[in-house]
Amino acid sequence: HKLSNETLSSLDNAIRVPRYDRATLSPGIVHIGLGNFHRGHQAWYLHRLFDAGVDLDWAIVGAGVRAGDAAMRDRLLAQDCLTTLIELDPSGHRIEVTGSMIDFVPVEEDNGALIAQMADPAIRIVAMTVTEGGYYIAPADGAFDADHPDIQHDAANPDAPHTAFGAIIAALKARRDAGHGPFTCQSCDNLQGNGDALRQTVLGLANLSDPELGAWIEENVTFPNSMVDCIVPATGPNELALARSFGIDDAAPVTHESYRQWVIEDKFCAGRPQWERVGATITDDVHAFEAMKIRMLNAGHQVIANPGELLSIGTIAGCMADPSINALFMKLEREEIAPHVDPVPGMTPEAYIDLIETRFSNPEIIDTTRRVSFDGSSRHPGFLHPIIRDAIAKGTPIQGLALIEAIWARMCAGTREDGSVIEPNDPFWDDLTACAQEAKTRPAAWLEQEHLYGDIAENEAFVAAFTEWLDLLWSDGLRRAISRYTGA
Ligand code: NAD
Repeated sequence: HKLSNETLSSLDNAIRVPRYDRATLSPGIVHIGLGNFHRGHQAWYLHRLFDAGVDLDWAIVGAGVRAGDAAMRDRLLAQDCLTTLIELDPSGHRIEVTGSMIDFVPVEEDNGALIAQMADPAIRIVAMTVTEGGYYIAPADGAFDADHPDIQHDAANPDAPHTAFGAIIAALKARRDAGHGPFTCQSCDNLQGNGDALRQTVLGLANLSDPELGAWIEENVTFPNSMVDCIVPATGPNELALARSFGIDDAAPVTHESYRQWVIEDKFCAGRPQWERVGATITDDVHAFEAMKIRMLNAGHQVIANPGELLSIGTIAGCMADPSINALFMKLEREEIAPHVDPVPGMTPEAYIDLIETRFSNPEIIDTTRRVSFDGSSRHPGFLHPIIRDAIAKGTPIQGLALIEAIWARMCAGTREDGSVIEPNDPFWDDLTACAQEAKTRPAAWLEQEHLYGDIAENEAFVAAFTEWLDLLWSDGLRRAISRYTGA
């Protein structure tokens, strides 16, 4: 059956469908960037809240500021904005049709319809997932990139903006002028301090064209930080076929892992749904949750993907199934990372290691080693180097941390252990490769990349450990090096 309100009742009984009457929903949230992640994560929390019979005036209106979003709008409107979610659990698939989204504004170059929708006082939250790179942050210093052509355009044309931020500012202006009060701006992107980043961009842009409005926004609008976590792959032919195999003709089904986390700072200037009733965590300290995720999950991804690449293992689940990579991951997480992570309410670092081991090992999730190894030049400094600095400062073990940096240096030499070539997989691949070649004879050269390692290169014990590991990797190979570390 073509998915629609009409056909919901004819779906197989094993498929969970909305338990609320969708006709009673009314809009409260505009979400910009209707990718798969939003539909697998935030839209699901709201849907389950509606199932519980509460907050029915917080339904989602979808939106997009890029021409490509019009195709998603067409697909979703043709199926009453319903989404099929397929949970990829090793014990079996679970299927649920969610109904928390009720409309999708037209996608237009000047964003007129989007601005009008956000100016409606019924809308109390404008949320977004526009990717980590979508916030106009200058890479060198993390400041607002006021010189970007998109930003220059919106500063000069505040009534016909191209960016989500320009549209938000135009809508806030209309609300201020009409006496309607502000809405909360909520980022759900995978960015540390995502609310702070969104605030910086919105205020930065507003101040370019209308500082008075900028001051009003600063005074009245809130930008809660949040930590989001759930692996949601893109939709391809396999996902479409999977939905059809359950008798659902959905033009845009979403698959996701059987784990979700959403930790939200309670800073909503115009109210919010009670997401905590369906599993979200509301807290004053998002930072502690972010630190646990970045140091254990994101750093852990590098710990398994870099050796996996060298051993020509295609997926993260495949890496976890390799006994030596698994042993490296477990020992490094337990002995050298966990000492630098604080527990958060409901989760110790040790329990978190077990959780991510299970998640990474899920063979249903096809997450490629190449994708996770991508962009080491920002991921190693972002995820691993702060741990190395803490370990040096506190005198805790560094052998495994030095080994993983040596494995990355070995990987950047550009060949796998079977001799095959690793295609460029970093914005700075050429520089990394040149340095990795030099490090083959003089390992310290790798750590002397000042912009990546800073003062780590001055720590003699770390340099010595790294040098020994890189020499061993080149002379005896990866498995020998790992087994010397793990003792297995
Ligand atoms: P997706 O490719 O399915 O969708 C991305 C959406 O963002 C599209 O609507 C696209 O038009 C829009 N977009 C992209 N760049 C933009 C820009 N510069 N300005 C405005 N809109 C833009 O991606 P997704 O899987 O939905 O992931 C989106 C984001 O969600 C990620 O970048 C990440 O921050 C977060 N996230 C995703 C996952 C995941 O596993 N997919 C996990 C955690 C967090």
